[in-house]
Amino acid sequence: MVRHPFGWTGVPVPVIGLGTWNLERADRAEALAALRQGLDAGLTHIDTAEMYGRGRVEEIVGEAIAGRRDEVFLVSKVLPQNASFAGVLRACDASLRRLETDRLDLYLLHWPGQHPLEQTIAAFEQLVRDGKTRFYGVSNFDVADLERAVALAGAERIACNQVLYHLEERAIEHAVLPWCDRHGIAVVAYSPFGSGDFPSARSPRGRVLAEIAEARGATPRQVALAFLVRRAGVFAIPKAARPAHVRDNAGGGALTLSAEEEARLDRAFPRGRPRRGLPTL
Ligand code: NAP
Repeated sequence: MVRHPFGWTGVPVPVIGLGTWNLERADRAEALAALRQGLDAGLTHIDTAEMYGRGRVEEIVGEAIAGRRDEVFLVSKVLPQNASFAGVLRACDASLRRLETDRLDLYLLHWPGQHPLEQTIAAFEQLVRDGKTRFYGVSNFDVADLERAVALAGAERIACNQVLYHLEERAIEHAVLPWCDRHGIAVVAYSPFGSGDFPSARSPRGRVLAEIAEARGATPRQVALAFLVRRAGVFAIPKAARPAHVRDNAGGGALTLSAEEEARLDRAFPRGRPRRGLPTL
């Protein structure tokens, strides 16, 4: 599995990781097997959140990584309504308990909310000092939100921005991605398969994907992932509750598309015009 430096942190992180939203709905044994196969295949960036299954997904992740904590780049998120100074500290302790670990690698604000951002950032800094997370970052932040966050935190404190990014939703390429790139902030693509709404091979766009995949001995999803992580500094976290899907996705990390293949995908899935606001799920 290819690893790239995670923005300014320099930590080598696999370009393809493991999402976990809705994992509590899957058969538990299968979900655990999927996560463990992911680790075996090098998909060691695990993304979870206190919101997922109201904590139940963090418990599943905790069980999956038991005895393997040091292999994992473990990410969780605090809900905006819990993001006061005291609320962040409490939420982090609860996440650590459910994950059965003493530290996260990265702790994110799930989306911008009502609590003053300076309180949230002060709490994140406290957690770093306490050794409860190595790094912190944000999610669903537009350029204006990012500017405010960096003004409050200082340079090289915000490690990542996790945002919606898939072939049919490329809005971040206009402003968010270049801004993050300039500031050494890693971009993590969530819902890289459109949250299950993946282009069908019967559609004209899906046929382009399928043709490129066939020519490369790959699958359409591997091609889609390779396109999303084509720039250094971008990482993807597909969610898969089935071991076979995890194995498939791992292959996306080994595929490098040619300039011609990228241009074909760019034409089939145009990024569209810049629009106001950041798309979210
Ligand atoms: P996604 O990864 O775009 O798509 C997941 C769907 O694709 C599932 O139905 C999964 O099926 C299927 N799938 C995965 N690999 C497949 C394969 N190789 N072949 C066929 N089907 C495959 O959706 P997502 O869960 O919305 O996004 C990924 C992760 O991003 C989330 O789990 C979460 O960790 C994160 N996220 C963050 C935010 C945020 O606000 N920060 C928002 C949304 C998501 P199975 O499960 O049956 O394998």
